[in-house]
Amino acid sequence: MCNKKFCCEKLEAFYRTDNGISLNFRIVKYIGSFREKMLLLNPKINDKGFIITSGYDKSVNDLETTRMVINYCPFCNQKLSDFYKSDDYVQETIG
Ligand SMILES: [Zn+2]
Repeated sequence: MCNKKFCCEKLEAFYRTDNGISLNFRIVKYIGSFREKMLLLNPKINDKGFIITSGYDKSVNDLETTRMVINYCPFCNQKLSDFYKSDDYVQETIG
């Protein structure tokens, strides 16, 4: 955990926020049939998703989770897919 690097301290704080608490930032990885469906729509799409949620119980991808997919850090404008390439960052796999 401690050797992870983040684009900025603000996004790191949201990444480390627990699931159920207010806004948080999640990095997910799409696998299996879910991933295959995404590739049909866009063959170049990243296998990771960068998502802001308003807090959740079960899963980032649960229908009841209010979420927004982002491509750039809202604080420092880093392109997330360029910075967070390693699977070490993945908090949930969605398949
Ligand atoms: Zn940032």
